Amino acid sequence: MEQYDLVIIGGGPTGAAAGLYSGRSRLKTLILERGMVGGQLAVTEDVENYPGFESILGPELGQKLMDHAEKFGAETKTVEVESVDLEGKYKKIITDGGTFESKALIVATGSMHNKLEVPGEDEFSGKGVSYCAVCDGAFFRDKELVVVGGGDAAVEEGAYLTRFASKVTIIHRRDELRAQKILQERAFSNDKMDFIWNSTVQEIKGNGLVSSLVLNDLKNDRAYEKSVDGVFIYVGLTPSTQFLNGVLPTDEQGHLHVNLKMETVFPGVFGAGDVRAESSMQVASAVGDGATAAIFAEKYIAENF
Ligand code: NAP
Repeated sequence: MEQYDLVIIGGGPTGAAAGLYSGRSRLKTLILERGMVGGQLAVTEDVENYPGFESILGPELGQKLMDHAEKFGAETKTVEVESVDLEGKYKKIITDGGTFESKALIVATGSMHNKLEVPGEDEFSGKGVSYCAVCDGAFFRDKELVVVGGGDAAVEEGAYLTRFASKVTIIHRRDELRAQKILQERAFSNDKMDFIWNSTVQEIKGNGLVSSLVLNDLKNDRAYEKSVDGVFIYVGLTPSTQFLNGVLPTDEQGHLHVNLKMETVFPGVFGAGDVRAESSMQVASAVGDGATAAIFAEKYIAENF
């Protein structure tokens, strides 16, 4: 079984920042990532609110953060963590690529997009239903698209989609967006963007590919059909903590409970970034969490081993 000082689960900005600090502390560090490095950054177009970078592409920032961690010695492996055993002095991390032992563990697994949970969503996934504008937007050149949601992701990615689509309609269940004001201002002044308020999607229909949505007008209690070529769904995120099987305490949505040092109730086990409760869910705060967790992990190791 391979042994490390610190294992970090998650290769997003939190995990990369933790890896950078841990590597510079000369801890034998392993970052485990199941997919692309960068976490949500990997599926984000422009990032304009990461201090020091007026504008940078999400995947580029994600890769830069990881390259920085690797430069200082952090190792990375592409594996899926299946479970953890936190009972002994050494934590065991069981993955589809073997089991690793570690003196300390940082859970930085971030979150996954939510589904709408309506008929047709699964059937047309990849056939007009998408959760990633950066990945799929270019397939919809001169097409009419709908974006569901009213948060930062819906409005920002909706604006990105206007580079390809002839029209992007945001469908929101309330009459006011949740997104940051600067994103709202840009959306309202974008000629290609339109809004349908107080409405939800009841069903996604098509024949091989998406062709229409059944919308529910909540104010007038009326259902009607709208023709569309594609639907991008941005209705929030759920923390990726399922693999923990309840070993660590979470809130109702699955966010980890941690203190200001990012410590969980298990000594030597930390939770950081979007996966923790009360996170502000920003790249800037995620890297701060990662640095904090790594600093206190190093202290824990120095005091206990
Ligand atoms: P979010 O902020 O949780 O917004 C989710 C949106 O989806 C809300 O408008 C919500 O409506 C709507 N919604 C939720 N469930 C729905 C359902 N079943 N049917 C229809 N609508 C539904 O999620 P997000 O936009 O993915 O952002 C997640 C976090 O990442 C946020 O903290 C955000 O600030 C951050 N983020 C930041 C940036 C940036 O800084 N540029 C970019 C992307 C994301 P209600 O408003 O009615 O609740």
